[in-house]
Parts: sequence; C-alpha cells; structure tokens
Amino acid sequence: MKSRIHYTKPSITDLEVGYATDAARHGWGDRCYEYINRFEELFKQHLGAKYAIATSSCTGALHMGLAALGVGPGDEVILADTNWIASAAPITYLGAKPVFVDILQGTWCIDPALVESAITPRTKAIIAVHLYGNLCEMDKLAAIGAKCGIPVIEDAAEAIGSIYRGKRAGTIGKFGAFSFHGTKTLTTGEGGMFVTNDDAFYEQVLTLSNHGRARGQIKQFWPDRVGFKYKMSNVQAAIGCGQMERVEELIARKREIFAYYRRHLECLPGVSMNSESEDMIIGAWMPTAVFETQTGVSREALQAAFAAADIDARVFFHPLSSLPMFEAQRGNFFAWDIPGRAINLPSFHDMTQLQQARVVDVLQSCLEKAS
Ligand SMILES: *Cc1c(COP(=O)(O)O)cnc(C)c1O
Repeated sequence: MKSRIHYTKPSITDLEVGYATDAARHGWGDRCYEYINRFEELFKQHLGAKYAIATSSCTGALHMGLAALGVGPGDEVILADTNWIASAAPITYLGAKPVFVDILQGTWCIDPALVESAITPRTKAIIAVHLYGNLCEMDKLAAIGAKCGIPVIEDAAEAIGSIYRGKRAGTIGKFGAFSFHGTKTLTTGEGGMFVTNDDAFYEQVLTLSNHGRARGQIKQFWPDRVGFKYKMSNVQAAIGCGQMERVEELIARKREIFAYYRRHLECLPGVSMNSESEDMIIGAWMPTAVFETQTGVSREALQAAFAAADIDARVFFHPLSSLPMFEAQRGNFFAWDIPGRAINLPSFHDMTQLQQARVVDVLQSCLEKAS
C-alpha cells in the first residue's frame, strides 16, 4: 500500500536530540543562555551578518524591528499582496496600515515599480518577502528606498539558502527576519531570528527584546521603555544548534528535491515553477507549480487529485487583501489570479524519489484530464 505523502516534515537526527537533551539536563542557572548564544553565533556565521537575536517567532522579530523603525499609528508599510498573514500582522499590531501591491508574474515576489507608485508621505517601510525562497529584486527595491529615504526590510522566513548577487537573503535590507517554525527548512519547532548589520539599530532592538532594559543599565529590574518578550528558550536553541551544523545539508536537499521537480515538470506545456535567474540561487523552501490559464487546470482540480492520491496539497497563498479584515485590492492581478491555478508541492528532507514521482504523476494526469 502506498503511504500518505506529507508536504513538510522536519529532519531531526540524534545530533539535535543530543543537544536538546543536554540543554534540558544541564542548561539552567549559569548555563541558561549557552545554546542561545551559540545558535546566534552559528546563524551569524552562516549568513555573514554582524548581529543576530534569537526570537520566539519570525512574527515577533518583525514586530520588534518595525517598532524600532518607529512605525506607528497612521503609518503605512508596503508589502506584496501575496503573502502569509505573519508578514502583515505586525504592521497592524503597531496601528499602521499594510499597503498591498501586486507581485511579479515570474518570481511571485513584490513588483518594485508598483512599490514606487504606492509610496506616500506616510510610508515608513517596505517589506521584501522572499516568497517560497524565491528572491525579491533587492537592487531595485534598495534604490527606491534610498531615493525616498524609506528602509527596505526582509522577511526571509522562507529564504534560508537563498542568495542574491552573492549576499544571503536577510542580510541585504535594514534588517532581516527568519522563522524556524516546524514547516521551515531549518526548525526549532517554533522560533525566529532578527538579523542586522547596523550597530545602533541592533542596540535598539536588543533593548526592545529585553523588555526595554538597555544593556548598560546597572539598576536591577529597570526598563527604560516598554519593550517586548519574544525570546527563544535554550532548549529550542539547542535543537537549532544541531540544525545549524547540518544547514548546508538541509539546504542542499531542498535544492535537490526542487531540481527533480523542475526536471520533470518544466518540460510539460503550460507549467512553470519557482524562478531562479542568473544572479541568484534560491533555497527552494517550497517547490510550487503554476499552470497557465490555457491549461484549464484549477486549484480545486489539483486539490482533488492530490487528495485522491493521498498526497498533502497546500494551496498558493490567498491574496492578503482578499481576507475579511483588509480592503480588497482586485487590481493586484497576479496576486489574485495565480492562486487559482497553482499548488505547493511536498518537499520534506527524507522524501524519496519514488514519492516525488508520484507527485509528478498526479500533476501530469491533471494536465491530461483538463486538456
Ligand atoms: C513562516 C513565515 C512567517 C512566520 O513565522 P513564525 O515564526 O511562525 O512567526 C513569516 N513570514 C513568512 C514569509 C513565513 O513563511
């Protein structure tokens, strides 16, 4: 009997289990920050970033970073309509308004030209989300940001392993935020990381992350301002240390799985996948197949076919502006059009080639049925 194919599953080995066990046994008292410090160190080294602060989530890292930028009531923050709610929610926590613009047809990431036309005197930040590990056009966004004096920040939650013109995703903007949720390439169960190369900005966020207590403050229990509590635990960080020792392996496997799909799917008429241009390498967190409208293949048909084959189907993100709490931006053509003819493909570390072949078969039969 064929078994169910899940779409993601973490890869946890004896290494992670060993560190987590050690943290649970010994990581208390004087040693309660050991794994956290090591995890931050390993992460910085991997990225080539100057500073890193481990957090309880990417959402928390974004919230603190946006707060440190001074985003507040009445302000606007521009991001792509195609996104997970976690990229927009922190904007609303601060009383600001997310402004949703359309994506590029090829990368499914924010369209820089539309960013420029969406800027108003109230715009406080631009969030570049590297969707599914695909890369935003950071040079263009940086140029717009520099011209208008607006910081560009990176939600790199899905972009471990993604490299843009020699720089790792998350290290290019004012700050970067990562997620180690159980579905991500590198996981601690729940968790995140704030990353920056800016000395003063790091100090500011470090203070915020410690309930507003500045590093040099000698008075005990003395916050200088209201901050946040988005810390990662030592046990989680221990798992993260194990994952960091395997980070190249975890990324390489994602890219290998993606390469197999690409080899077998991009030759099919009317099917495209995550795009990767010459000056970038994508981490391939979430291999995704998009069908051209003419193929007649719909999201619903794909979901039904996957269910029948006992394979988890994961839909392409709905446009955030289609959700009940936001104002619909139907003019965002690609963000509204692509999800109806796309699907995310299973891509967990221990997936076999036979399982991948089953996924390819389902997609192929959907195409045949629709034509
Ligand atoms: C997973 C994800 C998040 C949220 O991460 P959490 O750690 O769950 O807060 C944010 N942005 C993107 C793009 C994500 O994929």
